[in-house]
Amino acid sequence: MSDMMAARREGGGNGAGPAAYEPGAGESRSGNAQDKKEKKKVVALLSGGLDSQLAVRMMQDQGFEVSAVAIKTPFCDFDCGRGCGFEIRERADDLNVDLKTVYLGDEYVEMLKNPKYGRGAGFNPCIDCRAMMFGAAKKRMEEIGAEFVISGEVLGQRPMSQHGPALRTIEKESRLEGRIVRPLSAALLPATDPERDGLIRREDMGTIRGRTRRAQLRMAEQYAIEDPPNAGGGCLLTDPQFGRKTRDLFDHTETPTINDIDLLKVGRHFRFDEMTKLVTGRNKDENGVISALALPGDVLLEARDHMGPVSVIRGDSGGGAIADYHVSLAASITLRYSDAPKGQDAKWAVTVRRVRGGGEDGGGDPAAAGRVVHAEPAADGSYARFRIK
Ligand code: SF4
Repeated sequence: MSDMMAARREGGGNGAGPAAYEPGAGESRSGNAQDKKEKKKVVALLSGGLDSQLAVRMMQDQGFEVSAVAIKTPFCDFDCGRGCGFEIRERADDLNVDLKTVYLGDEYVEMLKNPKYGRGAGFNPCIDCRAMMFGAAKKRMEEIGAEFVISGEVLGQRPMSQHGPALRTIEKESRLEGRIVRPLSAALLPATDPERDGLIRREDMGTIRGRTRRAQLRMAEQYAIEDPPNAGGGCLLTDPQFGRKTRDLFDHTETPTINDIDLLKVGRHFRFDEMTKLVTGRNKDENGVISALALPGDVLLEARDHMGPVSVIRGDSGGGAIADYHVSLAASITLRYSDAPKGQDAKWAVTVRRVRGGGEDGGGDPAAAGRVVHAEPAADGSYARFRIK
């Protein structure tokens, strides 16, 4: 008798003990609801994390054909360094499921302005977010004629969205009441339509609860899932510092663009006034990203004679222009993070370029060519009040 089977018999499965699901068990049971029937389809929300992979494997064990939907938002980090979406595609291939990636862009930003169910400790609107994700899965379910939707959610694993009332709210908001199965915890949750209809059996479902991953890691081993991904991660909105930068953006911009959001992902951020902010690169890669993201109207700064950051001022000090005092302040901060000598009462040159429609320097318009200002590196502490962190 395996550890997991023992756990079931002993009533285990509180998350502190072994998993209450034995990989392969559903497959071999003669009474399995899917035995000897045409394969029924289910749609899985696949995050790339371990839990959603296990949920897929459990349903495959029980004879279902699984199609995956992966959701990308402006705030998720699908990029493992090998190109956006590469890793999740690899996971889908390993699981032998087809994959549809759905991008929630403008509608996600719109929701984030005022999420109906509020936010978590960061800027994360988990309940509204999950409802949107399940909404996309529902659409896929209807497209391919699937029976229901599954996810890797575990009861009590995440404080905001994975407790009983939140799970029910998400089902209601996504109009999937009774049609979301969370295989890892389903034996602890109210019966769903597929259970009532005999498509799945409660005894084939898991009883995992809580934040510990011991049970999932044991299942991963039994399913031979190599390098099970770490828990959490992937959503920038749960990061407290990123959350503060995002809050600042949403507080000062009626509808942030994807470009505004991409800019949040790099550099040190400074709020000069209601309309104006500065972003300063922290390394060569970020300098490149900042230059690439600069839009017409933005002002780019760089120390002329010293190694250092690329900075961008975005905003409007009045009349569509950036005021000189903001340019001077930005130049001082840019020098502060450069190799320019500090504390010498000396001023150093900073190149300032306003980006025009045709690119920096007005796309060849001599009147728009960069100018040089001279400034002292900002003294320690003098600029701290502007920093968003
Ligand atoms: S952690 Fe991020 S991606 Fe996950 S539900 Fe919350 S807001 Fe959405």
